[in-house]
Amino acid sequence: MRNTLMLVLILFFVLPAPRVWAAGAAIQSAGPGQIHEAEQNPEPDARFKADILVIVAHPDDETMVTGYLARAIFDGQKRVAAIFGTPGNSGGDVVSNAQAAALGDVRITEAREALASFGVLHVWCLGGPDTPGEDVRRSLETWNHGNALWQTVRLVRLTRPEVILTWLPDFVVGENHDDHQAAAVIATEAFDMAGDPTAFPEQVAPPDNRTAVSNLTEGLQPWQPKKIYYFSDAASTDFLIGKGPEYNTTDISLSKNLPYYKLAAQEMAYHLTQDDTGQLAKHALETGDFTYFKQPVRLVLGKSLVAGDITGDVFEGITSGAIPYAPARGYRAGARKGISVELGGPWAYYQEFWQAHSLDRMAELIKTPEMGVDNGEQVHVPILIHNDTDEAVEVVLASTLPPGWKELRGTARYPVRPHEVYPAQTVYEAPTTAKPESQTLHWKAESRGAVVGTIALRVVTDRQGLPQ
Ligand SMILES: [Zn+2]
Repeated sequence: MRNTLMLVLILFFVLPAPRVWAAGAAIQSAGPGQIHEAEQNPEPDARFKADILVIVAHPDDETMVTGYLARAIFDGQKRVAAIFGTPGNSGGDVVSNAQAAALGDVRITEAREALASFGVLHVWCLGGPDTPGEDVRRSLETWNHGNALWQTVRLVRLTRPEVILTWLPDFVVGENHDDHQAAAVIATEAFDMAGDPTAFPEQVAPPDNRTAVSNLTEGLQPWQPKKIYYFSDAASTDFLIGKGPEYNTTDISLSKNLPYYKLAAQEMAYHLTQDDTGQLAKHALETGDFTYFKQPVRLVLGKSLVAGDITGDVFEGITSGAIPYAPARGYRAGARKGISVELGGPWAYYQEFWQAHSLDRMAELIKTPEMGVDNGEQVHVPILIHNDTDEAVEVVLASTLPPGWKELRGTARYPVRPHEVYPAQTVYEAPTTAKPESQTLHWKAESRGAVVGTIALRVVTDRQGLPQ
């Protein structure tokens, strides 16, 4: 035993250290006067090349666009891959008692089967927890934003999509799920990062020796997608008209000899745990009532890096091959002066997000900030008070509410230090018996007896009563 140890020690000190950084088979030294042929650098794995990468939050979210995907896949021969942010673990289950993590396993399997019926086999889940709510920043927190983005950028580089389809990054009256919005934010960030080799550089560093074990860099290549489109679960999607292409689902698939709405219903029917998707589709297929599925698929063009019209086909202007990295504008601090107020929370975030990501048309989509509320709901409205002066100030904030509304907190005199942003948290109780209607909440801010700013927020009451 001791002799063996001595031999090991002698070998360790006497033999030269291996040159691990030159370990590839193609890097064998040549003899004098000889030049070896290096092997071809392998191409990216063509099996994973996608034309469309769908990035959504929950298993069954893809059904929002299957009326279009059926056309793209079955008649346009487009290759599609999909990413789900969460496994849908808090979605409810009308089939069995499976809940929580078990339900997540069930729902991801439903989604894989549903997409497989469309020939879509490349499906990933980021593993974020289902986070019911409306503030996108809560989902970004619970999903572990950095991890979710790291995974998504990798999958964009692996699948090299021409087009990304995702939820609308905006705050709307409707389902307005914060997970949906988080998928939109992460998809947009990944669109702008995947082509940048300094973003997650470990993903684009080639391995020392790809056929050996334990390579710790990923060997992918940067990839710049060409277009990003959004779709919305707003209560009414009329505001999307003219902002992107619209696809009729009553057209007939030439390859399947069926209308696209029926193909969409067949795909949705795999999500049987879900009352409002799988069961709805099953019922439609049984009864022949496809009213829900006959709605057109409306897309919003977020941005395009190729020529074409806003309402042109998704693949208009797209030719095969890589395009150069196109950096987004990036965040620029605004030039505020004096004392001012604005809606905080997701509304303030999106204003800066759209600018930072060169989504110039997004600010025009919903001109007055809006939200839907349930009857009797406690409504939290964050307000930012900006003091861009060199002196401490006091700002009196007061609300004007429609009949039936009650303020729980918010009206106050706020002390704001020089160059500080004070996040005021105001809370109201919505009317308990309102019918679905549009109302407006107003705020006025005064300092030293002068009005320094006003805010309006359009509120749609009784959103549960809104037509679906
Ligand atoms: Zn969803």
